[in-house]
Amino acid sequence: MSCYDVIVIGGGLLGCFAARNLMRYKLKIALLERREDLCTGISRANTAIVYSGYDMKPGTLKAKMCVKAAQEFSALCAELGVRYSPCGSIMVCFGPRGAQMLRQKYEQGLESGVRGIKLLTPQEVLQLEPNISPQVVLGLYTPDTGTVIPWELGIAAAENALQNGADILLNTEVTDIVPSENGFKVHCGSQTFETRGIINCAGLLAAEILEKVSSPKVRIFPSGGDYLILDTKAGGYISHVIFHEPEHKDKGLTLVPTVDGNILIGPSEVPVEEKNFFATTGEGLATLRSLVAEVIPSLPLEHVIRSFGTVRPNPYWVHQDPLSGRYVPEDKGISSFTILESTPRPFLSLIGIKTPGLTCANELGIYVADKMAALLGKVPPNPAFNPRRPAPLRLNDLSWTERAKVIKENPLYGKIVCRCRKISEGEIIDSIRRQPGAVTVDGVKRRTGSGTGRCQGSFCTQRIIEILARELGCSPAEIYKDSKGSYLICKEGGS
Ligand SMILES: Cc1cc2nc3c(=O)[nH]c(=O)nc-3n(C[C@H](O)[C@H](O)[C@H](O)COP(=O)(O)OP(=O)(O)OC[C@H]3O[C@@H](n4cnc5c(N)ncnc54)[C@H](O)[C@@H]3O)c2cc1C
Repeated sequence: MSCYDVIVIGGGLLGCFAARNLMRYKLKIALLERREDLCTGISRANTAIVYSGYDMKPGTLKAKMCVKAAQEFSALCAELGVRYSPCGSIMVCFGPRGAQMLRQKYEQGLESGVRGIKLLTPQEVLQLEPNISPQVVLGLYTPDTGTVIPWELGIAAAENALQNGADILLNTEVTDIVPSENGFKVHCGSQTFETRGIINCAGLLAAEILEKVSSPKVRIFPSGGDYLILDTKAGGYISHVIFHEPEHKDKGLTLVPTVDGNILIGPSEVPVEEKNFFATTGEGLATLRSLVAEVIPSLPLEHVIRSFGTVRPNPYWVHQDPLSGRYVPEDKGISSFTILESTPRPFLSLIGIKTPGLTCANELGIYVADKMAALLGKVPPNPAFNPRRPAPLRLNDLSWTERAKVIKENPLYGKIVCRCRKISEGEIIDSIRRQPGAVTVDGVKRRTGSGTGRCQGSFCTQRIIEILARELGCSPAEIYKDSKGSYLICKEGGS
């Protein structure tokens, strides 16, 4: 049986950054993820914004972490070799309710120390973003907003944890947790691990994990959302993240000029019953389209190349109903970061961490790592910790002379597999051989960007399946698109 000081459950953004920051201490760490790859949950389906922090109540942990994280985000991404676009944001509104909200957020931003925050006249908004509807009445600008590719960030943090000595165990689902003399026995099917402490980052399932050792306190009630992505052809339509404060109390629109030059639109807010319902809804997509018509009417929606769905992990305190014995939620959801500490053994849970969880992933990772080290007691720092993770070679970031040199050394970098994004065979092989490497078509996509262009993988998927099969030593018919069973090729005579 393997023994660890700390086990992190869940390999989304929060688990990856918890593992990375635990390596700042002399601890034996394992990250357990039930799926075949990292960042396949909420960390794969969000708005990809680094928030500057004016939206949160000043003085709260959330506001403090967010403002600090945004101001240090460029440095974090440089450390982890991750691309970051510090494009700034403008919030726009079209009437008196919106204007009042913007002024309130401006005051909050000043109080929280958001740098460079200012209100913009309609003329100033239109100068910066000429495609916004001329009906705009007020703008709120901040320079410290940006956008990042969430899974690129999470995978980089996990690679950095692994380089510093953490074990990352994929296909390892925690099925039970039993308190033991020295901490816990963590059961994952037929495998058992012993650990002194646990950090629970199981995303949508974090409450279920906590309930394996304690009675219910917080539960997650999911809601859904939809997104649209526009091709790079429409990329120049906006240059800042655009937030929209509507006149009615419903959800406004968000538009993001992504790191790769697309425009991401969304999310809508739709009801869902199931926690794993990452599907789109016609209703949500139609709402997005009608909001676009209000905020930025000339946006060419004919360039939509993809839509996708998300699930929000809305946390609520729960109490036991004395008559039915069932746990029922309080009327209002929890808006603060929910970080629960269970006693007597060290067990920390991050439950229902919504926006700005991506922005604050590293801050939250530091917070729980420091707290866990304190709970374990007398844990020395790790002087060998290296926060830098070497970035993968990205052909598109190189000059023509640099590309020629790379291709001369390894001709596979001269063989373009994904024509839309110009991703080479060399980069795809590297994404499979890196640790933890890609084992699925979507795993390659998350690491290289292949298949995210205009044709959405129509041309390259077949080639990527072949490369994966060759590298992993299996048949192309055994390669999944994403999760277990999502085969792309049928075996002869099979299903
Ligand atoms: C719609 C939406 C938009 C958002 N937009 C932004 C944004 O623009 N900016 C921002 O800062 N934040 C944003 N956020 C917040 C941010 O995306 C989340 O805080 C973050 O992704 C949460 O990551 P996670 O690691 O908790 O969850 P996940 O990414 O879901 O990871 C949890 C992992 O735990 C694993 N797991 C579950 N059960 C087990 C088990 N029993 N054993 C092993 N593994 C298990 C799952 O497989 C999964 O991989 C958004 C959130 C939502 C919902």
